[in-house]
Amino acid sequence: HGEYSEVIIDTPDGPVTVGKNHPVAVVAGPCSVENEAMIVETAKRVKAAGAKFLRGGAYKPRTSPYAFQGHGESALELLAAAREASGLGIITEVMDAADLDKIGEVADVIQVGARNMQNFSLLKKVGAQDKPVLLKRGMSATIDEWLMAAEYVLAAGNPRVILCERGIRTFDGKYTRNTLDLSVLPVLRSLTHLPIMIDPSHGTGKSDYVPAMAAAAIAAGTDSLMIEVHPNPAKALSDGPQSLTPDKFDRVMQELSIIGKTV
Ligand code: PEP
Ligand code: MN
Repeated sequence: HGEYSEVIIDTPDGPVTVGKNHPVAVVAGPCSVENEAMIVETAKRVKAAGAKFLRGGAYKPRTSPYAFQGHGESALELLAAAREASGLGIITEVMDAADLDKIGEVADVIQVGARNMQNFSLLKKVGAQDKPVLLKRGMSATIDEWLMAAEYVLAAGNPRVILCERGIRTFDGKYTRNTLDLSVLPVLRSLTHLPIMIDPSHGTGKSDYVPAMAAAAIAAGTDSLMIEVHPNPAKALSDGPQSLTPDKFDRVMQELSIIGKTV
């Protein structure tokens, strides 16, 4: 290849292009949308630091059915408020195709999470709607399985797909939650035209390790980054240990700008 395509995403502040020769588009925000104050505050802070998109889960895929499942539909309204207040594009996950229409009313990008990467009926449905799709790699998915999952979305008529590496299952979960597979950057470049996002937050599971892996991802040519940010990580309802504070995120964005263009 050598050539790859770009995905243009409409946001309240105007179109953002993710792809070759464009700044690394940074997606930041909490794992879960918890309340209006935290999501609006986080949106304003990450925007000021240079993020182009706000992430936040309304519907959360949790390992335990007793863990916080997300606030659902009411969280979508909070995302709409944060979108309005910040001008950022919104990225949030769909778990059930029945929720797709209402998610599409607020989201600028629809996320399909790692656990649904091979939910083929869901892939067909996100392929049949207009919003761009962020397809996270399944935690044990091969590159070919991941690309075929993307193919489901493309084949259903939606060309705007971004591939997100978020770490794969590791034999050594003691120090990192997953193994962030940065080798996908050169490998996918040789196989597909689709732009790539790297998620060092889920990839490492520890906020201290996020800056180095974000920098490495930019050095290796990523088109975009996803970084979890929470105003009070110790109190987060999900993924606190891997979340940066807004202050830390701001410093990391300044450090990253030395390695590559991020705004
Ligand atoms: C998330 O983005 O919060 C998430 C649940 O990610 P993943 O599907 O990669 O585990
Ligand atoms: Mn998370």
